Amino acid sequence: MAAPSPKTVSGPQPAPGPRSLTLLGATGSVGSSTVDLIKRGGARYRVEAVTAHRNAAELARLARELNVGFAAIADPAAYRELKDALAGSGIEVASGEASLIEAAERPAEWVMAAISGSIGLKPTLAALKRGATVALANKECLVCAGGLFMRTAAAAGATVLPVDSEHNAVFQALSAGRREDVRRVILTASGGPFRTWSIEAMRAATPEQALRHPNWSMGPKISIDSATLMNKGLELIEAHHLFALRSDELDVLVHPQSVVHGLVEFRDGSVVAQLGAPDMRIPIAHCLGWPARIDGPAPRLDLAQIAALNFEAPDPERFPALPLARRVLETGGAAPTVFNAANEIAVGCFVERRLDFAGITTLVAATLDAAERRSVLAEPQNVEEALAVDHMARSLAQDVLLEIAAKAS
Ligand code: MG
Repeated sequence: MAAPSPKTVSGPQPAPGPRSLTLLGATGSVGSSTVDLIKRGGARYRVEAVTAHRNAAELARLARELNVGFAAIADPAAYRELKDALAGSGIEVASGEASLIEAAERPAEWVMAAISGSIGLKPTLAALKRGATVALANKECLVCAGGLFMRTAAAAGATVLPVDSEHNAVFQALSAGRREDVRRVILTASGGPFRTWSIEAMRAATPEQALRHPNWSMGPKISIDSATLMNKGLELIEAHHLFALRSDELDVLVHPQSVVHGLVEFRDGSVVAQLGAPDMRIPIAHCLGWPARIDGPAPRLDLAQIAALNFEAPDPERFPALPLARRVLETGGAAPTVFNAANEIAVGCFVERRLDFAGITTLVAATLDAAERRSVLAEPQNVEEALAVDHMARSLAQDVLLEIAAKAS
C-alpha cells in the first residue's frame, strides 16, 4: 500500500468527488476557455448545465461532449434547432430568459457567470442567492448593481471569484495579508494602441486603429474600451465592489507588457503582485481549481526572455475616462450604471463614425451631467431598477448626442 502523500497545501481543501459545474455563457470566449480546461480535467468535473445566447449548434455540441443534464438557449427562436440537435440524448432543453435562471438555480457547486451584457444579471444573481461559488466574468453585475450583488453574495454565503485578469490578480495577492493591513490596490493597464500617441493624433484615430490591441485578442467593444481606458475605469468600479475599496485606495498603472496584472500594497510597504502570460486561461484555471491549483495549458512566463517590464502613470489628459471613472465611483448610486450605458452608446457611435475618438468620453461625461441634473442617480435596489436606469441612460445618451451634434454644426 502506498504511503499517504503529505498535505502540502494549507487553507480550505476541495470537497472529494467530482466538482459539479454550470457554465452560463458556454459558447463565448471565456466559456470556450473554461470548456477547454474542463475537458483537460476529465473525471474531476461533472457539468450540470450549459447556456448560450443563440448559437444552438455549438451549444448542442458542447452539451453532448460534456454530457450535461440541462441546456438552455436565451433566444427562443433557436429552441427548435437545439431541441432537434439534442434529440435522444436525454439532455433537458429549454429557452428564453427564464431558462437561463433555471440553469443557474440547478444545484451545481461552481458556476461560471460568463453571459455578456445585462441579460447576465438575473442568472448570476440566482446562482449567488443559493450560495454557489461564482466565477464572475460578467462586468455588468458589478458595474450596474455591484452593491446589490455583493450584499446578496454575503447574505447567502456565496463566494465570488473574479475572472477578469486584473481582479483575479488582486484576489490572489490579497491572500498574502489581512484586509485591514491593505494600503492600496493597483490595477495594471496595457495602455492600449494609443499609449504613445499625442492628444491630436488620438482625436483623429479611426475605429480600425482603436481595434488593434497590442496584447490581448478581444471583441470590438472591449478593444475600444482599452483604447480609451474606459475598460480600466469600469474595472476600478468592479474592484471597489469586489474588494470593498474606496477610490483613494485604488490606483491604475500603465504596464505595456501585460505581465503584472495586479498589485496589493500592505501597510509595512510590501507589495505583492500576480504575474502571468496575458492568457485568460490562467485566471479561469485559478477560479476553476480554487482553493486548489490545477494544471494550466497557457504559455509559461519566461521573464528572462521578456527581459524588461515597464510602468508609467496614466496620462489623465489623453485618457480622461480614468478621472471620469473616479468621479463616478465617488458619486456612487446609479452613476456607474449610467457611465456604462452611455459608454456602450458612445462606442457604437464611434464605430459608426458618428463620434470622433475623443467624443466617446465627452458623450459619457455629458450624459452623467444630464443624469445628475435630473436627479436619477439613486442606487438600484434590485435588478429591475438597475435595468431601468440602464435603459434610461441609453436614451439620455442618444438625446445628449443630438445636442452635441447640434452645437457642433
Ligand atoms: Mg481586464
